[in-house]
Amino acid sequence: MSSPAIKLLTASVVLCFGCASFAANQTINTDLVVVGAGSAGLSAAVQGAELGKKVVLLEKNPYVGGNSQHAEGLFAVDSEWNRLRSDPLTRQQAYEAFIKKQNHLVDPYKNKDFVEGSGENISWLASHGIEFEVRRETPDKDNTWHIIKNYKGTNHGAGLIKGMKDAADKLGVTTMVSTPATDLITKDGKVVGVVAKDAKGNTYTINSKAVILASGSFGDDPQKVKEWGHRDPEGWKSSVPINKTGDGIVMATKIGAERGPVSFIGHLGTEGKGIKFLSNLYAVSWQPFNLWVNSDGQRFTDESTSNAFSEAANGIYAQHDHYGWAIFDTNTIDYCMTKGIDSGIGVLVPVGTQLKNLQQDIKDALAVDSDGFKEADSIAELAKKINVPAKNLEATVAEYNKTCELQHDPMFLKDRRYLKPINGKKYYALKLKSYFFSAYGGLVTNRQHQVLDTHHKPIPGLYAAGLEVSNMVGPTYPDFFSGHAFGFASYSGRHAAINAAETMK
Ligand SMILES: Cc1cc2nc3c(=O)[nH]c(=O)nc-3n(C[C@H](O)[C@H](O)[C@H](O)COP(=O)(O)OP(=O)(O)OC[C@H]3O[C@@H](n4cnc5c(N)ncnc54)[C@H](O)[C@@H]3O)c2cc1C
Repeated sequence: MSSPAIKLLTASVVLCFGCASFAANQTINTDLVVVGAGSAGLSAAVQGAELGKKVVLLEKNPYVGGNSQHAEGLFAVDSEWNRLRSDPLTRQQAYEAFIKKQNHLVDPYKNKDFVEGSGENISWLASHGIEFEVRRETPDKDNTWHIIKNYKGTNHGAGLIKGMKDAADKLGVTTMVSTPATDLITKDGKVVGVVAKDAKGNTYTINSKAVILASGSFGDDPQKVKEWGHRDPEGWKSSVPINKTGDGIVMATKIGAERGPVSFIGHLGTEGKGIKFLSNLYAVSWQPFNLWVNSDGQRFTDESTSNAFSEAANGIYAQHDHYGWAIFDTNTIDYCMTKGIDSGIGVLVPVGTQLKNLQQDIKDALAVDSDGFKEADSIAELAKKINVPAKNLEATVAEYNKTCELQHDPMFLKDRRYLKPINGKKYYALKLKSYFFSAYGGLVTNRQHQVLDTHHKPIPGLYAAGLEVSNMVGPTYPDFFSGHAFGFASYSGRHAAINAAETMK
């Protein structure tokens, strides 16, 4: 963009940086429309503008950032940051491990391209003033997680969003918040723009040479979770709902796009009266040293699977009523308060955090007789409170304590580091449930990020990026490569813009 302000062809309205105000029922002409202002959409908008294209960025919510503003770090391998740490993982090793662990149920080309280009994408973000540091999330993961350390005093996803929004503003991108895209405009089989509607009911017809859909999948629509995701939305819930209802997928399928396979970024967690998301009590639900039982009072997995949050979500969801209980004692509480936790909730509650507020959280939950948390003086009493057969729970705890004494778990081979007996002064049960950070998938794209129709042919002028792209992950999110979703969101947004700009030459 050469000019800081965009002059509309149809009206004498001039837009300022990032604070657009159009007349009602306006027609706008631009090169590129990007739908959704998360990390995928903002990366697309900035890259498109850097290539000299006039860009309009539409956002449904009154603020930019989407779920990306809550994220922490992006996947990359063999990045400049990895080089400086002498991290050993190569791109080839990463790709091979990824494809095998995903049972080849993914797009090999797009995943290969992403692995190859992931490091360069971090360098591109850094060139906009965003600072990174690499972290290993849990002992079983590689050093792929590029955490946003700082952008003008803000860290994590919010820092990336701020950095990209500043860049978009500087480049003259027109950002329209509270203005969801509602329909794609087509002419002779080509996408030539979108229709959008703002909160006041004004309609915008935005003519463009290309459209990039980056509206972040469908996870906040329980009906689609059931129909598209084949999950019971009562037992598989969005943990940070922001009204993402699969708009891009719906708009594209209406004009002939194929609806592709969907997946979720699952995670374990807890809920109940008096329990707050990410509170100290919430953080206990992620700890590998708890004993997990189902509603029959039976153990059902190696609890250190909590180190792999999306696999843990599967294990809990697989119980017949989609929940379990984490059983622990006063010794666990002391350990969490003094030594700090073994498994971080990402870097939102990092590993080693001393849960100083845990006693208070416990008091608060008990004061409201929480349905998600119970305390008792004996295992039998605890069983009664959580409605599991007392005989079963007593037998499970006794067997587990023997396992801890032996430091060997014949049942599930749990890592001995986490074998701690349940024999403190009081006993506790915290409800375990399955959630997801986001749904993942919905549209099938090719290597150029073009959306494919039901005959597997690209729809001219239409691209998709970020979480609404199918086949990047299999049925279970690969959290062993930390940051895959966030990394791909930014990478694919940028590369969709590069390819779209190429066709405009
Ligand atoms: C608490 C939390 C922590 C996370 N941590 C990580 C992490 O560390 N690493 C990782 O890889 N992933 C993480 N994730 C997942 C992360 O959200 C995704 O990886 C990624 O940021 C999604 O990017 P996106 O741009 O595709 O979607 P989003 O960031 O969700 O952006 C989509 C945008 O589209 C907008 N939109 C929807 N419909 C329309 C419409 N019709 N018109 C216009 N706009 C529309 C939405 O309002 C939203 O702003 C985390 C998620 C959460 C909730």
